[in-house]
Amino acid sequence: MTYIGRFAPTPSGPLHLGSLVAALGSWLDARAAGGRWLLRIEDIDPPRCQPGAIDTICRQLEAFGLTWDGDIRYQHDRDAAYQAALDRLAAIGMAYPCGCSRREWQAHAHYPGWCRTGSLYPDRPQAWRLRTDCGDRPVVWQDRRLGEQRFDPSAQGDVVLKRKDGLWAYQLAVVVDDADQGITNVVRGADLLDNTPWQRQLQAALGYSQPRYLHLPLVIGDDGQKLSKQNLAAPIPCDPTTARQLLPHALTHLGLTPESLEERTANIDSQLHVALARWTAARSAHR
Ligand code: GLU
Repeated sequence: MTYIGRFAPTPSGPLHLGSLVAALGSWLDARAAGGRWLLRIEDIDPPRCQPGAIDTICRQLEAFGLTWDGDIRYQHDRDAAYQAALDRLAAIGMAYPCGCSRREWQAHAHYPGWCRTGSLYPDRPQAWRLRTDCGDRPVVWQDRRLGEQRFDPSAQGDVVLKRKDGLWAYQLAVVVDDADQGITNVVRGADLLDNTPWQRQLQAALGYSQPRYLHLPLVIGDDGQKLSKQNLAAPIPCDPTTARQLLPHALTHLGLTPESLEERTANIDSQLHVALARWTAARSAHR
């Protein structure tokens, strides 16, 4: 069976330990399956993109021996593909324009779908939302680590697909590119677990084949929060010497703790080689 995996960072800053664990987990899974591993830069939101971050991310991945296959995919020039997908969703009644401002629905846990049957404010700039009540639900899938997952996307709200400022939203872009790149396995952090129902609903509506999902454990910082750029998680190094010292920590988060001092201090390639053998052995449990 062909296996195509991917790592899809948003270039809003350098990678930190949490994103390294996601990259490492998806790389190990792809390589253990003899598959391809693609790098996709999710640069759909220019104000959030930090100058130089793409270059830094590539150097960081290289320092940790996480080499990708083929050319890097960028999302900033995928406008036509996202628009075509949105047009199809609109044609089947799964996407609708919405002029409501957040302030108007802030008393609700999520957007209550007021514009589902016609925009209440057609004169305002329009966002486009997913009509979660019309798609497949509940969404059920077998997560390779967490087992059966069952969510009703309409309980999570009609997520935005295109923003009112014209920028594409993550949920639509990720689904279109995962399908376009033939991704068979998504391996990413568990912080995205509750995004998967929207994504699977979109895949079903667009007639895409559905990848398998494995949501990795999150790296929690000293403050009890998941590591993120928002809480200023430290960037991982770009030089192989420091990378080599940090790699054992990333492996530990994946349950692949190096077993001896020799393993812990080995060069990157040797550490990855051992990790790959362990992941392959554990993989039979994660099929
Ligand atoms: N771009 C997303 C992020 O950096 C990840 C996308 C994904 O793995 O689906 O959080």
